[in-house]
Amino acid sequence: MRKSLLALLTLALTLAVGSPFASTMKNTEKPTAKDALECEIGETSACGLPSNVVIDMSKNKVQRTEAEWRERLNARQYNVAREQGTEPPFQNEYWDNKADGIYFCVGCDTPLFDSETKFKSGTGWPSFYQPIEKSFVGVKRDTSYGMVRDETHCNVCGSHLGHVFNDGPRPTGERYCINSASLRFVLRSEYVEWVDENDGIDE
Ligand SMILES: [Zn+2]
Repeated sequence: MRKSLLALLTLALTLAVGSPFASTMKNTEKPTAKDALECEIGETSACGLPSNVVIDMSKNKVQRTEAEWRERLNARQYNVAREQGTEPPFQNEYWDNKADGIYFCVGCDTPLFDSETKFKSGTGWPSFYQPIEKSFVGVKRDTSYGMVRDETHCNVCGSHLGHVFNDGPRPTGERYCINSASLRFVLRSEYVEWVDENDGIDE
């Protein structure tokens, strides 16, 4: 909030007295994306831009060949999870899913997010204020598109998930803006059944 107030003030001042940086600004002008929370439907948001980070997957527990990835994922899932693409807001599977359950990684079935931490962000992407287990979700600074964002990916298989921003609700203040294509939702009842079945199995 304070930031946008400051931006407004700066804008007002610039309009009133003219900015000494105006010429510099013109030279570096490029399409900028707003933060997803400030966007109208159809506007480009920070969430809506693909990522461009290098994720070190050499130590990932789950490794698959290119052919295996292609077989496991559909075209959109592959583009988002393996190529750091993004899906359109409001036109993806889980942005408005209110069912009680667990969101797994589409690439390796690791439980990543719980519906109890999902909140209505208004961005058109499923949003959570925390992962089930922080160590499962890797964060990498993403400076593509002239922005500073924190890219998130699955630490078990390296699949790109989305981004995390610091304008989320309590208790964490974080907003994990995640692509539906990187997730697979399972109802809690089915999840509990699965845990019971796999309980006690050591890897
Ligand atoms: Zn994964």
